[in-house]
Amino acid sequence: MSEVVLQLQGIHKSFGDREVLRGIDLTVRTHEVVALIGASGSGKSTLLRTINLLERIDDGQILLRGQDISDPRVPADAVRARIGVVFQHYNLFPHLSVLDNVTLAARHVFRESRQDAEARGIDLLGRIGLAEHARSFPDRLSGGQQQRAAIVRAIATNPELLLLDEITSALDPELVGEVLDLVRELKAEGTTIVMATHEMAFARDVADHVVFLDQGLIAEQGPPEQLFGAPREPRTREFLSRFL
Ligand code: ADP
Ligand code: MG
Repeated sequence: MSEVVLQLQGIHKSFGDREVLRGIDLTVRTHEVVALIGASGSGKSTLLRTINLLERIDDGQILLRGQDISDPRVPADAVRARIGVVFQHYNLFPHLSVLDNVTLAARHVFRESRQDAEARGIDLLGRIGLAEHARSFPDRLSGGQQQRAAIVRAIATNPELLLLDEITSALDPELVGEVLDLVRELKAEGTTIVMATHEMAFARDVADHVVFLDQGLIAEQGPPEQLFGAPREPRTREFLSRFL
């Protein structure tokens, strides 16, 4: 069995008197792509935000390579340095060049020299065809280019885990493919990814494991062939029927 990167045990999270996560158990192994699917409001974003400590959980444990990062004594910055995150919107800092965005964490969190960080940044941007935009500001890029740059920024420091929260939801349809292709490449390189997505065809094709969240609980999980091909739970079938 491959190594466990992330283990969630009994995660509970409430906002006021509304319990949004009601006991989530999940294991993510190295090189695995886990897709989180579920209706809007089911708790996907909250779950991702708890993993990099943007939300503090009320109960349970979050283990990152065995370390309990939900222990409040563990500094959030140290945890976030180990986890890359890309959201739906507003990923790049608008006042920094694309290259400065990509090298920010390497230089300021990992204290790399500008020269080393920029050499790798240019290299990464070249991989996604954006080397000539390195000195541009993000608003000169298309939405798809911005999201690809955001992904490159998130992986620039070789995080142990990459969290993607509906990274294509705000894009024009013709720009979705280029972003998903990059995720596919990262998977091929062995990046460990947890992604919330509404792209069911992509999840079916790329995920190793699919988790269907329903009202803050995992209603069903399994390999994509099972979850999409032969869902066991009526709620899963009902949810998936919306995408037919
Ligand atoms: P999803 O990403 O699956 O659409 P979310 O995790 O964003 O779901 O939201 C789950 C529920 O938690 C929703 O009812 C949402 O309104 C609520 N929620 C999320 N963030 C907050 C917050 N900061 N304060 C209050 N309620 C929140
Ligand atoms: Mg969400």
